[in-house]
Amino acid sequence: MDYHGGMENIQFGADGPVSSRLIYGCMRLQDGDDGAGRALDAARDAGYTHFDHADIYGGGRSEEIFGAWLRRHPDLRADLLITSKCGIRMAGDTGPDAPQRYEFSRDWILGSVEGSLKRLGIERLDVLLLHRPDWLMDPGEVAEAFAVLKRDGKAARFGVSNMRPATVDLLQSFLDEPLVCNQVEVNIHNVDALKDGTLEQCRLREMRPVAWSPLGGVVFEAWGNTFSEEDKRRVAAEFDRQAARYDTEPWLIMLAWILKHPAGIAPIIGSRTPDRIRAAVGALDIDYGREDWYRLWEAREGRPVP
Ligand code: NAP
Repeated sequence: MDYHGGMENIQFGADGPVSSRLIYGCMRLQDGDDGAGRALDAARDAGYTHFDHADIYGGGRSEEIFGAWLRRHPDLRADLLITSKCGIRMAGDTGPDAPQRYEFSRDWILGSVEGSLKRLGIERLDVLLLHRPDWLMDPGEVAEAFAVLKRDGKAARFGVSNMRPATVDLLQSFLDEPLVCNQVEVNIHNVDALKDGTLEQCRLREMRPVAWSPLGGVVFEAWGNTFSEEDKRRVAAEFDRQAARYDTEPWLIMLAWILKHPAGIAPIIGSRTPDRIRAAVGALDIDYGREDWYRLWEAREGRPVP
C-alpha cells in the first residue's frame, strides 16, 4: 500500500489522555509465536499508541503476550495508552455448572485489575472498561471499586463497553469523574450505535466512541450475522465500486465510512498481519464523500432512505 500520511492523535474523553485515532486490538494475539511480536512492532511503527485488552482475551494469554513484548521495549511504556476490561466471568468459574455471566461487584473488579496488571507487567491501567453491562449492577459499588483503583494508582481513567445510553447515564451519576469512552460494535452489519442514541450521547458527554470489529461483515461474518446472501452480494458490490473509485480496497472504505461519522469514532484494528496493520492508517487519508457514505448505508439497509 502506497501511503505517505501518518497516524492522527485524538483526545480520549474531554479531559482524558491522548490516543492514536486507530487503536490496536490485542484480542487475536493468543499464540506466543513471533507473529504476535511482529504485529505489535508493526502497530508501534505505524503510530498506534493505544492498545486494547480484556482480562478474558485468550484466557489472559493476550495480556501475557503483550506484557512479554513490553518487557522487551520498556522505554515505550510512557508513550502508550493501555486499556483493559473487566466484568465477564466465564462459564465453569467457581463450579462446573456455573454459567457465563457478568459481574461488577467490587471484589471482582479489583481482582480482575490485579490480574491484568500482573499479566501486562505494568503498575497502572491507563483506562479500565466495564466490558458488558451487568444487569445486576449496583452503581454505588462500581463507584467504590473505581475510587479504590484510582486511590491506589491502579487505574487512571474509566470507561464502558457495549452499554446503552440509559445505563451510561445511571452509572455516570454515581461517579466523580467523566467516563472517557464507550466501546461498541460498529461495522457494516451492526449500526445499532448510530440508531440507539449511543453516538449522540458520546458527543453530548464528550466520551470517545470506539468501534470494535470494524471489519465484521466486510472481511468476515459479523457477530450474529443476519445478512442474507443477497444482502452480502449487494453490500460487497457497493464496496467494490467505491474501492475502485477511491483506488483502494473495500476494507479501507469500511474504515473510512466509520471515520467519517462526526462523533469521531476510533476504530480498533484487530489484524495480526503487519501489512494490514500499517495499511489501515491509510484510511485516515481517504477523502470520503457524503454521497458514498449514504450509498453504503442504502446498500446495507437494502432500500433507499425514506
Ligand atoms: P477487525 O479488525 O474488524 O477484524 C480483524 C480480523 O479481520 C482478523 O482476523 C484479520 O485477519 C481479518 N482481516 C483484516 N483485514 C482483512 C482483509 N483485508 N482481508 C481478510 N481478512 C482481514 O477487528 P476484531 O479483531 O474483530 O476486533 C478488534 C478489537 O476489538 C479486538 O482486538 C478487541 O480489542 C476489541 N473487541 C472488543 C469487544 C468488546 O466487546 N468490547 C468485542 C470484540 C472485539 P488477519 O489477522 O489474518 O489479518
